[in-house]
Amino acid sequence: MATGQGHVKVEDVTKIYDPEGANVLAVEDCSFEIKPGEFLAIVGPSGCGKTTLLNMIAGFDHVEPKGKIYVDGELLAAPDKKLQPGPDRVVVFQQGALFPWKTVLENVIFGPRNTGKYQGSELKEKAEELLAFAGMKEFMNDFPSRMSSGMQRRVEIIRALINEPTILLLDEPFRALDAITKAVMHRFLLDTFDYTHKTIMFITHDLEESIYLSDRVAVMTTRPGKFKTWIDVKIPRPRETRVKASPEFIRLKEEVIEAVHEEAIKAFQRGEREMA
Ligand code: ADP
Ligand code: MG
Repeated sequence: MATGQGHVKVEDVTKIYDPEGANVLAVEDCSFEIKPGEFLAIVGPSGCGKTTLLNMIAGFDHVEPKGKIYVDGELLAAPDKKLQPGPDRVVVFQQGALFPWKTVLENVIFGPRNTGKYQGSELKEKAEELLAFAGMKEFMNDFPSRMSSGMQRRVEIIRALINEPTILLLDEPFRALDAITKAVMHRFLLDTFDYTHKTIMFITHDLEESIYLSDRVAVMTTRPGKFKTWIDVKIPRPRETRVKASPEFIRLKEEVIEAVHEEAIKAFQRGEREMA
């Protein structure tokens, strides 16, 4: 189901928060592309500007003072340009955002029902198909609060997918999960990627996760964030857990650890809160 869509181009973006006041240089001279259908993982020290980048791509935050962001050739963000969030780019955050008073099914169909994306029974059929894919169909009439965090995460991703975005933007979505739930979510996200071939930008603190899931890992520097190292992950898909024990995986892990470690030390010396 590759669509050939979902191309992201970030061109020479610098982001300053509160230029008149605190003047926080969050991202500096950042340029990169995400190819259509590519799974890009971004790692870097806490506070280096990862969420800032994601929010600018999502259209939640202004590009200011410099740079341009294109999606599928269209200029979507630049200084003085109105914010342009859109259903083509869907964000899943670390903190869950399901409506607790709605059932799983109601949560999933909420967005497309409002936009009138599907006609008649089509929407419910689509929702059921996606929930079945996520192993969640039997829970569709339950409320989120009764479910485990892993199940809630799956519902959130399904809720994002039903809008048929071309790009999924995931900001540390599995950060708060225990190791076993995380393993289940990795399987789910890998299957989702194989099934949909959406472009994915995935921010994480978990270096092993960044390699296991992605086609390419980008390591960012301490703030102001720039890209320090790009690492291609040429491990074939579909991926099984056992690839983590392969010599290639271990070699990649060493490469990523080394790049991140240097930045972690710099961040530590500057007194940043936390390392990635
Ligand atoms: P990351 O996601 O990599 O941890 P962020 O993108 O959240 O980092 O933040 C990058 C830097 O910008 C940090 O120093 C943060 O404190 C600062 N920052 C983030 N959002 C704002 C804001 N709305 N106003 C001022 N500074 C901000
Ligand atoms: Mg962040």
